[in-house]
Amino acid sequence: MIDAARLKAMVGHIADTIEREKDRLCALDGVIGDADHGIAMSLGFGAARDAVEGLDETADPTMVLNTAAKSFLNAVGASSGPLYATALMRGAASIKGKAELATEDVVAMLQAMAKGIQDRGKAELGEKTMIDAWLPAASAAGEAISQGLARALSAASEAAHAGAEATKNMVASKGRAERLGERSLGHMDPGAASAAMVIEAMRKSLTD
Ligand code: ADP
Ligand code: MG
Repeated sequence: MIDAARLKAMVGHIADTIEREKDRLCALDGVIGDADHGIAMSLGFGAARDAVEGLDETADPTMVLNTAAKSFLNAVGASSGPLYATALMRGAASIKGKAELATEDVVAMLQAMAKGIQDRGKAELGEKTMIDAWLPAASAAGEAISQGLARALSAASEAAHAGAEATKNMVASKGRAERLGERSLGHMDPGAASAAMVIEAMRKSLTD
């Protein structure tokens, strides 16, 4: 059963995962950005975890994600702040009024998060951003939805990892890395790398 408690645990699991990978994300950002992506993501999800842990048992799934969104935004000054805050807010809106989430709800939530990031940042596929992990993940989850939650989220996680890997062959045309142009080739986008971690953490906490 996926309820508010499970979503709180999901936020906590994302925070733990990002905390573990913080240095690697900063190193990736050091190559094509300003070396703060791991710090930004761990501050954001750390604040989100603390805030959702403080909610009482009357909080519903929408409240959990909206609380995470607000605290993420307040904690992060980098561009990932508004992008993930929008993702979490859209995810919250997509499950409004539901106390428990079915497979379709979880997939709709993931897709709303991806669309939120795209609406907010206006990046298209192939521009070497987190969108290159989020959009394929959202599509893959939708395609596998009839096979159940575990398969849908595995497909999403695999697609996110493949998408992050594929950013190595892309030239950045959005965000801070844009100024590097061709020199961004050969390096994985940090936001796509962290997106794959976030989506895998969601899979693990919602299906294991
Ligand atoms: P900043 O660039 O402000 O230091 P971060 O280091 O936290 O922010 O995040 C950088 C990541 O944000 C990039 O690797 C990229 O994936 C993502 N990003 C930047 N601009 C956009 C955008 N317009 N749309 C989607 N993702 C973006
Ligand atoms: Mg940065």
